[in-house]
Amino acid sequence: MVAIGFSGAVGNTPLIELRTLSSALGRRVLGKAEFLNPGGSVKDRAARAIVDDAEARGVLQHGGTIVEGTAGNTGIALALVANERGYRSIIVVPDDQSQDKIELLRAYGSDVRVVPSVPFTNSENYYHVARRIAEATAGAFWVNQFENTENRRTHEATTGPEVWEQTGGRIDAFVAAAGTGGTLAGVALALKARDERILTALCDPYGSALYNYVNNGELKPEGDSDLEGIGIKRLTANFEGAPIDRALRASDGQAVGMAHWLLEREGLFLGGSSGLNVVGAATVAKELPEGSTVVTILCDGGGRYLSRIFNEAWLALNNFNRSLTLEEILAPRQVF
Ligand code: PMP
Repeated sequence: MVAIGFSGAVGNTPLIELRTLSSALGRRVLGKAEFLNPGGSVKDRAARAIVDDAEARGVLQHGGTIVEGTAGNTGIALALVANERGYRSIIVVPDDQSQDKIELLRAYGSDVRVVPSVPFTNSENYYHVARRIAEATAGAFWVNQFENTENRRTHEATTGPEVWEQTGGRIDAFVAAAGTGGTLAGVALALKARDERILTALCDPYGSALYNYVNNGELKPEGDSDLEGIGIKRLTANFEGAPIDRALRASDGQAVGMAHWLLEREGLFLGGSSGLNVVGAATVAKELPEGSTVVTILCDGGGRYLSRIFNEAWLALNNFNRSLTLEEILAPRQVF
């Protein structure tokens, strides 16, 4: 089958059985290979859907400019969709994100605005800066991936049903972290609609407020994380009301350890959020009966983090161990 252009090549990603992990656990852990999207991440889906919707509503027109504040992957996806369709893109990125992603954005021809990393409550936060740039730019469309629910709708319409079909409905749990929450909420909605017994769980990094929100209704962050693209201290429209049964938490050390373990033991080169997701999936799998199937998201590739979690100096600076055993990675711990 021929895919029509960049947008036509988004989605329908493979579902990969993590063989070494699954045989070690006696449970199947499957990763949805979102890093194989044409823009290299799970955010290609949201970018395509949001731009399609903006065009359909007439709020993005010929010669227009796509504006967004992003940790990187949404911007990368938007820059490529913009190129495909003849729009300009202005991408606002906080300066704590990997240089690798910022350089990719520049290479793609996006107008990149790097801003200081400050809390959401500060008006200089990348989210507010992007909104103001859009307001001040003629023909601009502000994507607003956090509140624009086309994000979650497309995961409900594509990612979730793909997982259901690829597993033949044999799926016991779905586990993922949340940035905007679009992926987790959309997939959870799609799976629960097909079989409400499927367990849905958030695996949150430290520093995010959602772990406490899901478990006891309180938006309370604890600790800190350097992982990119995940964790949030507020409730977004994309996450709100999602059918999430429970939340667990994993540390950066576990996520980084798992990213290296997946590279060395499974031959899969993935970013830190994928590492965290697999820690979450494996943790849930261990609690389920033998032979259960748990699905998670492999969000993006490790090449975006060559200056971070795959850099020896960075690992040493942050005291991360790149050669942990599976038992060490999955050992429960309190970190904050
Ligand atoms: N991992 C990475 C690397 C990301 O960039 C994102 C998007 N922010 C996510 C995970 C989370 O996806 P979502 O926004 O759908 O929650």
